[in-house]
Amino acid sequence: MALRKVASMGNPVLRKKAAPIAEKDITSSEIQTLIQDMIETMFEYDGRGLAAPQVHESIRLVVLVWDFDPKVKPHIMCLINPVLTPVGDSSSEYWEGCLSVPGLRGLVARPDRVKVQALNEKGKKISFEAEGFAATVLQHECDHLDGILYVDKLKDSKSFAFNKEFEKFLAPEDASESEGEG
Ligand code: ZN
Repeated sequence: MALRKVASMGNPVLRKKAAPIAEKDITSSEIQTLIQDMIETMFEYDGRGLAAPQVHESIRLVVLVWDFDPKVKPHIMCLINPVLTPVGDSSSEYWEGCLSVPGLRGLVARPDRVKVQALNEKGKKISFEAEGFAATVLQHECDHLDGILYVDKLKDSKSFAFNKEFEKFLAPEDASESEGEG
């Protein structure tokens, strides 16, 4: 395993539409190594999610820490060629941060519930629904695959801040379970 370099905002790789991964390639050593490297890199930088374009690989792959469900042991989730579909029309706002936009966070409103269809790291089809902060993290990561950053979706430039000032002036009191960068 190896740490990968994280691309920062301004790098064109973050603005490209990433290519799908062929099903037959999922179990290749190249993709399996990339998945392991992305997990290591995500933890190194204290992220809760990471998309392949953030480590300069323009392919449709994301990893995230799945600790949203108290009934399920926290684990790493790997999504390949994910397709997200909003369910219903309610939305939620969370303060988002991104390893590719270091030191900042901003308030973004997104659909509160999404259906996820993807392949996992073994190439097995998975499908589930997520809501609340989990839905936001999924949408943030999958946006990276389409060259979209959360800053494109800021509710208001007044709700965009450096982390230190965010903690001091803006942090909601109940934010503890909805933090982390992706
Ligand atoms: Zn991000």
